[in-house]
Amino acid sequence: MATHKLLLLPGDGIGSEVMAEVKKVIGWLDAQGLASFAIEEDLVGGAAYDSCGQPISEEAMAKAFAADAILLGAVGGPKWANVHYEVRPEAGLLRLRKDLQLFANLRPAMCYPALADASSLKRDLVEGLDVLIVRELTGGVYFGEPKTITDLSDGQKRAIDTQVYESYEIERIARVAFELARTRKNRVVSTEKHNVMKTGVLWKQVVSEVHGSDYNDVTLEHQLADSCGMQLVRAPKQFDVIVTDNLFGDILSDVAAMLTGSLGMLPSASLGAVEEISGKRRALYEPVHGAAPDIAGQGVANPIAMIGSLAMALRYSFGLIEAADRVEAAIAGVLADGYRTGDIWSEGMTRVGTAGMGDAVIAELAKAA
Ligand code: NAD
Repeated sequence: MATHKLLLLPGDGIGSEVMAEVKKVIGWLDAQGLASFAIEEDLVGGAAYDSCGQPISEEAMAKAFAADAILLGAVGGPKWANVHYEVRPEAGLLRLRKDLQLFANLRPAMCYPALADASSLKRDLVEGLDVLIVRELTGGVYFGEPKTITDLSDGQKRAIDTQVYESYEIERIARVAFELARTRKNRVVSTEKHNVMKTGVLWKQVVSEVHGSDYNDVTLEHQLADSCGMQLVRAPKQFDVIVTDNLFGDILSDVAAMLTGSLGMLPSASLGAVEEISGKRRALYEPVHGAAPDIAGQGVANPIAMIGSLAMALRYSFGLIEAADRVEAAIAGVLADGYRTGDIWSEGMTRVGTAGMGDAVIAELAKAA
């Protein structure tokens, strides 16, 4: 069995607490012979700043380049509120994303049946929901030039943001979406605003071309972004994979996330290109939540988003589909058994802390083994 090089960057606040639970799962998978890992660990964020004056060291960056996948906890906290902007904790995460050229952001929105009542939508609309939003992360209106605010002679001001996409950027994100769809229900909805935006016209054209040339087996549908947003809250289970640009992806992924309940439940991945020589795709997996300084150190953080991030790494970086399925089934099982951390607790449920939830996941894995 291949040994997978995994770099763990717990980071700050609850990052190290939730990472401790992932280590239990990694140890269990290793012990069962379901996966084999070579683990490295390093500092990122405020923890790295305290240690070396930088939010990530050159040694840690070298480990990141050498790894098959990176698991990151969270960075930030009030302790570093006044450090210089360039070396703030978040800059460590941004450097990883930039230097590793992680252009594809994957945000799954899964609704576990046991938590369906926590959604703002009716149970029958969200129970069993499993949508994956693939957002272009390094281009579009957040980065396009010119990006200015200008004083005009009449006392008014003019602000300009520029939406720019080149065909290669659309092609590579489309390929990610189609490849991922093949590991799921084989359906992609591509969303843009070709009715009012030139970037939308090009987006639709390039996605159609990539589909026609290499992914005819995947079902492709185009939806205008406003209509897609409406459909996401009207009938979210119609979607499998949604691929979209940076701006629309930012908004639609937050909408989809909130269909499922708490921040403590949401994993994510950021993927780069497949390298020619190694055939490896750079990848960083992390919970959507931050360092949660308000609960850090109390042992009450929900580790499910972090454990779910490991499941994504198993599935998308290592091709260990069975192991990924087992981890996700264990999470669903634990929730069905009524175990809840404080953020998802409701009357009649069994309240557990971070370690308790991790142990419950291991027990559930062992039950099914
Ligand atoms: P946050 O996600 O850290 O916390 C928001 C709220 O959700 C808090 O009340 C917190 O207790 C709760 N929460 C978050 N994760 C939880 C979990 N796993 N279990 C239970 N409750 C959980 O967002 P914030 O408070 O806006 O930011 C705190 C710090 O984290 C800031 O320094 C911010 O810059 C940083 N941050 C980092 C990342 C990242 O590392 N990717 C993301 C967002 C925020």
